[in-house]
Amino acid sequence: MKRTIIIIITLAILGGGFITFYLLKNKEENIPEELIQVEDNTPQHNIIGSSVEGRTIDAYTYGNGSENIAFVGGIHGGYEWNSVLLAYRFMDYLEANPEIIPDNLSVTIIPSANPDGIYKVTGKEDRFTTADIPDSEATVSGRFNANEVDLNRNFDCKWQPESTWRSQPVSAGSSAFSEPEAQAIKNFVLNKSPLAVIFWHSQSNAVYASECEKGVLPETLNIMNTYAKASGYKAIATFDSYPVTGDAEGWLASINIPAITVELETHESIDWEQNLAGVKALFDYYKQKGDQPTGILPFDSGVTGEVFLGPTCPVVKEPADPNCADKPYQTTVQVIRTGSPKSSPFAVIETDKDGKFEIMLPPGEYGLQAIGGKPFPFCETKNVTIEPSLIIKESLTCDSGIR
Ligand SMILES: [Zn+2]
Repeated sequence: MKRTIIIIITLAILGGGFITFYLLKNKEENIPEELIQVEDNTPQHNIIGSSVEGRTIDAYTYGNGSENIAFVGGIHGGYEWNSVLLAYRFMDYLEANPEIIPDNLSVTIIPSANPDGIYKVTGKEDRFTTADIPDSEATVSGRFNANEVDLNRNFDCKWQPESTWRSQPVSAGSSAFSEPEAQAIKNFVLNKSPLAVIFWHSQSNAVYASECEKGVLPETLNIMNTYAKASGYKAIATFDSYPVTGDAEGWLASINIPAITVELETHESIDWEQNLAGVKALFDYYKQKGDQPTGILPFDSGVTGEVFLGPTCPVVKEPADPNCADKPYQTTVQVIRTGSPKSSPFAVIETDKDGKFEIMLPPGEYGLQAIGGKPFPFCETKNVTIEPSLIIKESLTCDSGIR
């Protein structure tokens, strides 16, 4: 009896397997080849954040290489809607032509970095077309996000509450990265560590380099010239038409990530052939760089150290009493970028129980501030310079107040 049941079950499994195999085989034969290919090229879709009004900010990644380059459209929303249409066109193109992406690269497109600004002008939640665009005067207010902030003034590079756009003052937010759309880009960059970021804007018909406090990165000049030469846009190393603070490209420069701004020729055109040539030239550039990785994240620079608390005895003797030596202090250390307010630290770390801490940071100037008490322990702020490819050592001391 048992054996009969086992045989029946075995036959059922085999039979089922055969039928499934047969069905699958037939199904496969019925799918046209093009459709199978489209399936394979579907990009990886990530929601990297959402806007003030709750619209998603999406990132689409094509190709499987270990290094990433990223393209961002529409940071100026409905005022520069053509930069979003260009991004959509590239998404379709990469899906249909995945072979143009070099093996060592993956390519992320963030087509619409200011979806509320796009919605204001087009009334569309998803993709729009030129038919959804009103006349050009009506698009200006779509430049800003729903808090009336110019997002390309909200990044942490020389940030000020008010900045300029041409001769007009514009709001730059209540602090650097106060706006969720800017935070989405920041988080994407810190997670993905792209080799470079290209921003599509309109309409000055040129490619611009980027800089913050320390000048233009050499790699930024390379990709600016590569894109400009192939596309036919003018290359402009320094933007000095009017003072700009808090721009995204400058922030990227400040963390050593090359970034360029591509300004389309008008507010309506997408300059497709020009930009396709520019993007293909960038792909070739990174293909040639091949196996020499230039990514800087995770950072290979930073600081390690210890926090001490002292004095530990009311009277300091000569020679020093070893029992009265400063002792390790377990606390929190804030890392503040020089020039940024203390209220918005770049990073916050906890020491271990021996007061030891370690953090990887992009090159730059920082203040290290251990957290004490009120009024004691009183902890000093130490200014440090993080150099590329170097982990420096710094100890911090806090005054116990014991005398
Ligand atoms: Zn713009």
